[in-house]
Amino acid sequence: MKFRSSCILVLVTLCLTGAVFAQAAKPQTQPHLIPPEPRDGEGTATTIVPILIYHAIRPFIESDTRADRRYIATPQTLDEELAWLKQSDYVTISPDDLVSHITAGTALPPKPIIISFDDDWENQYRYALPLLKKYGFTATFYIWVAVVGRKHHMTWEEINELSQAGMQLGCHTYTHPYLTRIKKDETLQRELVGAKRAIEAHTGAKITSLAYPFGQYNARVVAATKAAGFTSARSTWPGVVHSEEGLFSLTGLIRTESEKPLEDTLQKYMALAQEGQATVVHEGGVATHQFDAVSGTPPAYFVPLGPDSGPDAGQTSLRPPLRQPSQ
Ligand SMILES: [Zn+2]
Repeated sequence: MKFRSSCILVLVTLCLTGAVFAQAAKPQTQPHLIPPEPRDGEGTATTIVPILIYHAIRPFIESDTRADRRYIATPQTLDEELAWLKQSDYVTISPDDLVSHITAGTALPPKPIIISFDDDWENQYRYALPLLKKYGFTATFYIWVAVVGRKHHMTWEEINELSQAGMQLGCHTYTHPYLTRIKKDETLQRELVGAKRAIEAHTGAKITSLAYPFGQYNARVVAATKAAGFTSARSTWPGVVHSEEGLFSLTGLIRTESEKPLEDTLQKYMALAQEGQATVVHEGGVATHQFDAVSGTPPAYFVPLGPDSGPDAGQTSLRPPLRQPSQ
């Protein structure tokens, strides 16, 4: 009897210790990673437009790490996804179309979708542009200014070619920093206004949409983005419902090889949207950006420049580019 109660006591102690450890092991959400309120999808409007977010488009190579692969979709996958969108009667629109629908009530096609590409990888020009043309789609390319013309990144000529082919251009800041970590207002200004003007000067396009590096922003970054003259800004928090309150915290769906198939992802988020659920994830990180949200550490090839290295600073700290297949 005594032995039994001792056993029970030991078991209870073990369970309690386990609970404490489980508590401690649960990743703590960092305050600066939580979108400010009101969040996209909240508020009064219920505009449902999926925004797909692609990064590198290229075949895998042997040396790709798991972290690298989380930002790559192969050309074959992109081809399949665009083919499926075409068959499913999706029509591509731009962030500006979404903004004017929400703010001025302009009409959208029955099944609108925004396709976006970040970081101006040369492989987007090489693989994505021909595929977009093949299916008669347009996309928005968010330009990271400091690396334009560098190895594995597009040149201004190539970016202009995108524009001439009917693609939209957006801004992805000058040096791809964590905007939320920038202390000096002037630095934040350079990353936003400086980058916007640089893209406009090189392309002649009017730049109105921003993609936050690493999808991260806070109230100060949103205010600076509005002051810089942008009319929308995209995060990487997952969701498909948009509202006027959320035009500077637009949610999207990151597309990589591991996120296949697109049909399932869209079905899941569309169902949530139809049920009227806010599809923003408030805790535990951001879908495929969970790695960043939990540890605050970006994938190996994604290390930004220091927060004080604006367009006027030297660019010697740029890290090696994403490895490319030799073809
Ligand atoms: Zn980026």
